[in-house]
Amino acid sequence: MSPPEYPKCRVEWCDRKDQSCDRSPDRKCIFHCDKSNWYETRTDGSKDWFHRMGNITQFWKELKEQKIDKGDYNFALFVFPLFPLDNPFSYTNAERLKVEVRFTGARFLSNATFSSMWLENAAFFNGVIFLDHATFSHVEFLKYADFSDTQFLGGATFACIFYEEANFRHCSFSSSHPTSFNPYFPSKEYTMFRGKTSFCEINFPRTFTFRHVDLSHVSFSGSNLEELTFLGCSFCKRKGRNELFDERKVFSSSGGLLPPAYFEVLEDMYRQLKYNFENRRDWRNASEFFVSQMEIRRLRLKIEANDLKIYKELWSEAKAIPPPTRTFFAKLHNSIPKLYTLKWWNRALERFFLAGFDVISRYGEQPDRALFWIVTLLLMGTIGIFASQPFADWNDAFLTTVRAVTFQQENNFDSIHRSTQWIITLLRIGSVIVLPLFFLALRRRFKR
Ligand SMILES: [Zn+2]
Repeated sequence: MSPPEYPKCRVEWCDRKDQSCDRSPDRKCIFHCDKSNWYETRTDGSKDWFHRMGNITQFWKELKEQKIDKGDYNFALFVFPLFPLDNPFSYTNAERLKVEVRFTGARFLSNATFSSMWLENAAFFNGVIFLDHATFSHVEFLKYADFSDTQFLGGATFACIFYEEANFRHCSFSSSHPTSFNPYFPSKEYTMFRGKTSFCEINFPRTFTFRHVDLSHVSFSGSNLEELTFLGCSFCKRKGRNELFDERKVFSSSGGLLPPAYFEVLEDMYRQLKYNFENRRDWRNASEFFVSQMEIRRLRLKIEANDLKIYKELWSEAKAIPPPTRTFFAKLHNSIPKLYTLKWWNRALERFFLAGFDVISRYGEQPDRALFWIVTLLLMGTIGIFASQPFADWNDAFLTTVRAVTFQQENNFDSIHRSTQWIITLLRIGSVIVLPLFFLALRRRFKR
């Protein structure tokens, strides 16, 4: 008797014809069929696979014989049932896997464990849905690793090394099950992300944790960074503040030519990180991210101001255009003076204040910097008064300076030398600016 002829699997590029293609509701082969009838859901939500153990064993047997043993690691759109005890994705005597591994669009219905694998070629887990916990432990991705649009609905554990680009763009992580990324060992040798890594456009839930991860190559554009946990993580540094990888793109490419909107996004990411670290009472990181936020704001204001200047140049070009077209520019021109004066001056003023705030107290974060300016005021004042009052000695000069800086009246102000009057006035102005900023920065430091 010849074996029965089954219809072809409904997945377009799949040539399999097996019993499942005939029996499963979606008419797909044993690898692709949706398997929702392979388990029963218990009252606590867990899955009972017992009554279909035969099918499960057959699935893994066929997977091994027809895919893995043949060196074929294309599992696109596969639906994986319960993992067997001899998990083919967990190698105890690990060989280096030289072929491309592709799980694009696959679904894992139960816990999925990948361990001790060396993937020498690209690995694609994009668009995969992990319905239960996903574990990637001691997996080394030597080439591109794609996890974009992947859904980790039952939490995940990653203890891997990504040697080249890793892409987690637009992933979704469970908000009820914990997800953690941590190296096997918190040292430089085990740095997780070594190439460009994207965690962009992700809504990180509270249950998400980066533990001891070096994030200097990780980009977070468009992600929500207020809730997730950073434990002992390191960021790259620029002039004593934390810098995101996203910011480096701005500087390395074309200086300040990126549109201001990009800087707004960056500024907001720093604000979110500041908020995140403040909530965890990690003041050092919070303060460094606040400084970054201010630096980016200044940069944005500068670019916006430059953009506004362009209108002026546009007008000078427009004047060379013959009349019919020129009327359009003439209309435009009517709005130019307003744009130029108001908005431009607005930004210029804000930049000026921010620059001063930076110079005097590093945006209120460094009282020592403000203290330096107070000492400088005292020193310059003393020297200045000593030099301008012919009969003064150092003692007098110093005391006069202290009186000026602390706003005490000079009894015979009118009788002293004109240039000394000037110095005293300047000292008072300086101290009006520096002293409050000093106390503000001091308060900010000790209120924590
Ligand atoms: Zn198929």
